[in-house]
Amino acid sequence: MVLPCDGEYRTVHRPGYVFIRGERIEAVGAGPAPEGLRAGADEIINAAGKIVAPGFVNAHTHLFQTFLRGLADDKPLLEWLEAAIWPGALVMKEEDFYLAALLGFVENLKCGATSVLDQDYVQTSPHNADAIAEAAARSGARAFLARGFADRDPYHPAFQETPERVLRETERLVKKWNTGPESMVRFEFGPLIPWGCRQDTLQTIDRLAHEWDIGVHIHLSETRAEVQMSMDETGMTPARWLHHIGVLNDRWQLVHGVWLDDEEMDLIASAGALIIHCPVSNMYLASGNPAVTEWRRRGIPTALATDGPGSNNSQDMLEVLKFTACLQKLRTLDAMALFPEDVLDMAYAGGARAMFLDGKIGRLAPGALADVILVDAMRPHIAPVHVPQSALVYNANGNDVDTVIVAGKVLMREGRLTHLDERRLVEDCQRAAEAMFARAGIQVNGPPRTTLLSRSRTAS
Ligand SMILES: [Zn+2]
Repeated sequence: MVLPCDGEYRTVHRPGYVFIRGERIEAVGAGPAPEGLRAGADEIINAAGKIVAPGFVNAHTHLFQTFLRGLADDKPLLEWLEAAIWPGALVMKEEDFYLAALLGFVENLKCGATSVLDQDYVQTSPHNADAIAEAAARSGARAFLARGFADRDPYHPAFQETPERVLRETERLVKKWNTGPESMVRFEFGPLIPWGCRQDTLQTIDRLAHEWDIGVHIHLSETRAEVQMSMDETGMTPARWLHHIGVLNDRWQLVHGVWLDDEEMDLIASAGALIIHCPVSNMYLASGNPAVTEWRRRGIPTALATDGPGSNNSQDMLEVLKFTACLQKLRTLDAMALFPEDVLDMAYAGGARAMFLDGKIGRLAPGALADVILVDAMRPHIAPVHVPQSALVYNANGNDVDTVIVAGKVLMREGRLTHLDERRLVEDCQRAAEAMFARAGIQVNGPPRTTLLSRSRTAS
């Protein structure tokens, strides 16, 4: 079953074929592959019983957090940052960033995400960003790396940088890695949050983003507390403030947008900015349930993502697809709020837009880059398959991904990586994470958490 996802999401070739030459797709069609193509193929992969689809784009994550996942469950965003992410990130060394990111890229690939947009905002060593880029290159995933920063209070002072350093380092990384519009690893700007970034820095990077042909990736209106902080400081909600300082435009990628009001959505729509939706993280941190159907009604381009492994706690894009649909049904009490085709449109067309690779990824069509996944549909929790789009969104999970091809290279075959020793990587990461916490004297096995039951007992 081939799902081309080429501008519309209804077409299924059953059977069908995809012919890849080098790093691109050369032909896609219905029926058995023509004899001429079969005869010219170096390798034929039998996809019987499998859904053949474009690789997913995970449009927002923080892969250094693979070493920190599960450390501070059951907390809202700001408490979670204080309890786990800040203290954990402070004790990570450059080599920890490499291993943590490699594990994260591998998890993304194994779950079917062939493109990953990672925002690293921990610049405690000048080369953390290089370590993550090296890990991306080693993994074989297509990566767009938002070089994160904060440069003012009240963000944690240990993570703040000077604007000069932010500009100098981002320029260095862009020159080193953005060797072409399709290079496998590229950098863009990643201001962390409006409340941690100076107005003049945001205006400068907006100008440079246009000059260097890159994007600007920022968290926005994730929690009600942050909207209130913006109101207290500027008298404006966060998206209004970005518009007010003159930087809201089509290079900006706004992550979350949980608490946008109607007028802010109109501003974002007319600016042509992209919103990245992270439903599992929004549930995990109890941030809220954004009005995704309202974004779509306004034509706001929308991509989907897991968010970091610290607030999800996995990197399973197939899980994200299901929650995207279900949460909007729940929010609107309308079972038709989003169809599987709508969810795939966000995952693929929105994801391609987030990667600055419009039309080049997220579809199976001649000339597109050959990022392809095979999902095993002959499993008890999926079969029988009547509508493959529905099976992908509502039944499949990351473990069902059988084969992963990126830029024409087979990186996973029958669930096994072809280019990396997965078991060894997991063991190396476990060892490095344990050593990291031992070095810092941090006790990770804390006292049992208060449960709802024990809380109510205390109260009674
Ligand atoms: Zn995030």
